[in-house]
Amino acid sequence: MKNTTVKAVHDADLEKLLRSLGLWEKMNRDQLLCAFCGTKISPANLGCIIPKDKQISVCCDSINCYEKIVECGE
Ligand SMILES: [Zn+2]
Repeated sequence: MKNTTVKAVHDADLEKLLRSLGLWEKMNRDQLLCAFCGTKISPANLGCIIPKDKQISVCCDSINCYEKIVECGE
């Protein structure tokens, strides 16, 4: 089954968003990892951004990780 999650942001907006969250540099240093599986996150595989408490986590575009977000969501 295909992942139907729509990428919410255009690449340029994504960069702006990641910069504003302080994640862009981390990503460029290969230090931005999926909160669930530990995969290195790049613009190509960024699934979603998860605000968690006061921290921002990111998740890759794997359907397995997406399901984990849904499980632990809200
Ligand atoms: Zn993942």
